[in-house]
Amino acid sequence: MTAVRMDGKELAARVREDVAREVAELGHVGLTTVLVGDDEASHVYIAAKQKAAAEAGIDARDVRLPVETTEAEVLELVGALNRDDEVDGILVQLPLPSHIDETKVTYAVSPAKDVDGFHPVNAGNLYLGTPIHVPATPSGCMELLRAYGIDPAGKEAVVIGRSEIVGRPMAMLLMHANATVTVCHSRTADLAAHVRRADIIVAAVGRPGIVTAEMVKPGAACLDVGLTRTDEGIRGDIDASVAEVAGFLTPMPGGTGPMTIAMLLRSALQAARYRRGLLAFPGS
Ligand code: NAP
Repeated sequence: MTAVRMDGKELAARVREDVAREVAELGHVGLTTVLVGDDEASHVYIAAKQKAAAEAGIDARDVRLPVETTEAEVLELVGALNRDDEVDGILVQLPLPSHIDETKVTYAVSPAKDVDGFHPVNAGNLYLGTPIHVPATPSGCMELLRAYGIDPAGKEAVVIGRSEIVGRPMAMLLMHANATVTVCHSRTADLAAHVRRADIIVAAVGRPGIVTAEMVKPGAACLDVGLTRTDEGIRGDIDASVAEVAGFLTPMPGGTGPMTIAMLLRSALQAARYRRGLLAFPGS
């Protein structure tokens, strides 16, 4: 079997076109990204997010602060952005320099403007099955499943990784879509035994090739989130040999990564709708 390639690049382009049209209809959507420090990967991610937002017609503001910026200064900036009527969405790029408490900053972003979906109000609403802003990477994985006609209902899904930004929200989304979900992590005793049962596999670890062909049930849908830069280029968590066994497989790169950016733009659009009262914001 050679797996169907789940083309995230192509699907992301379509989502971005839709977002651009809806942004034009709405008139104005403002997204401000905040980057503190010199983390190389973060600069690449922010550049990509800014470019995509600008191409969608979003009023994208790019705030970059030096590494010595204090926690109080970042909190003050976030407070000002919360109050700024031109700003619908706020994204503070993680990781922050070690002298800044990421939890404090994450909590400081207004839940309505929290396009990353990291604030406890958003995480809690996802848990409750009433999602408002959902982290973009798992949201992009769900969009890929939808686009390729894979309904999680009744299926066995295995999520490898339990981070707040990928693994946990991914498990929640799959559970809400009626899959039977197993979450694996670094203390899982027999990863292969769990993965082998899965109709849907989402690998979000950051260990190249941790999922091998022998671990995959024939026909399974495999979504590769893990991304590791090696001397041979970018590698995913799913070994290339899996393409011979899986039914569906995201390429790396060109799979879940482009979808993450597209879903972030969609989240900014949703934030603008919440703020204009076009969508009811729970609890407000
Ligand atoms: P993270 O916070 O480091 O989480 C990694 C998870 O993998 C943890 O839950 C960890 O378990 C688990 N893990 C580690 N070793 C394992 C093993 N041997 N077997 C099973 N599970 C293991 O990372 P993250 O932020 O979720 O990101 C995961 C990967 O996705 C990274 O490579 C990141 O670069 C990539 N990523 C890609 C995108 C995209 O758009 N494609 C977006 C975000 C992140 P414990 O909880 O027990 O430590």
